[in-house]
Amino acid sequence: MIVILMGPPGSGKGTQAVKLADKLELPHIAVGDMLRDAIAAQSELGRKAEQYMNQGKLVPDQLTIDLVKERLSNVDCENGFILDGFPRSKAQAEALDEVLEDMEYSVVYFDIPLDEVVRRNSKRFSCRACRTVYSRPGTCDKCGGELYQREDDKEDVIRSRYEVYVENTKPLVDFYKDREKLIEVNGVGEIEDIFGRLLETLKV
Ligand code: AMP
Repeated sequence: MIVILMGPPGSGKGTQAVKLADKLELPHIAVGDMLRDAIAAQSELGRKAEQYMNQGKLVPDQLTIDLVKERLSNVDCENGFILDGFPRSKAQAEALDEVLEDMEYSVVYFDIPLDEVVRRNSKRFSCRACRTVYSRPGTCDKCGGELYQREDDKEDVIRSRYEVYVENTKPLVDFYKDREKLIEVNGVGEIEDIFGRLLETLKV
């Protein structure tokens, strides 16, 4: 099964992606995490991506397209995958179309309003080690890592990430509607309730 999760920053798509990947025993491909790993490793990709990410801008298409194409060619993606944070632009959606060819897939769109985006993201703390997301500082329950606030979760950057989303990513809702691939899920509410809605709409 191939599921692509879309939605504004802070719509909960990352949290839901982890739960879905766990349930379906499929790899969770989170492009933001892959880019943060590249920054931590101080690779060439990381050096190129960092300035864009810290400002809440999209990393140039060709970098993310190459990254995702390579990841999807991995043997663990043979039975499907959960794609989180890609595509975020028309060029990325077209590149993904080429990779998927005539494979079956679903695109889930979590919609939440801007005030909820700001409220959630400004309270978001991530584990430096395993990337698990919390709504408090401290240490990670899973691995004991330090919980920190991402540079791009500061309020002014959140607002510009939302603008970037509206301009570049939201148009993909129509792109996938036209292909009859889009499933809308209400992203407001408790994590477990949203997950229930997600499973119901995906019929899994
Ligand atoms: P995320 O962890 O999904 O919130 O992504 C964090 C940041 O990584 C975004 O604000 C972008 O700067 C960058 N990023 C993640 N995915 C993409 C993508 N598909 N295209 C371009 N930039 C991306």
